[in-house]
Amino acid sequence: MVDHDSKSEDEWFRRNEKELIETARAARLKREQERAAKEKAEETRRLKDLHFMKCPKCGHDMKEEPLEGLSIDRCTHCEGIFFDAGELEQVFRQQAEQRRSFFRKLVRL
Ligand SMILES: [Zn+2]
Repeated sequence: MVDHDSKSEDEWFRRNEKELIETARAARLKREQERAAKEKAEETRRLKDLHFMKCPKCGHDMKEEPLEGLSIDRCTHCEGIFFDAGELEQVFRQQAEQRRSFFRKLVRL
């Protein structure tokens, strides 16, 4: 009788231990994923703080400049120009005369 009780107790612990190990493993994996996501977000923020509105060629400040309804970014040092996604397409959709005016102002004629 004592032996039987001991056996079922062992079995109960064996089953529960497996479940506990699995639960702990899943919780650890979740924490690892959360840490990785947090680190990735921090790295993205750090890179943005470091590079936002800096010229990709010379590293000087870029300055926003309104131009024919768009807002282009021009480097204050080397005069390099940056277009946001879709801005250049907007220029090409303009009428020929407005487009010419845009490019004249862009090259400061
Ligand atoms: Zn530059």
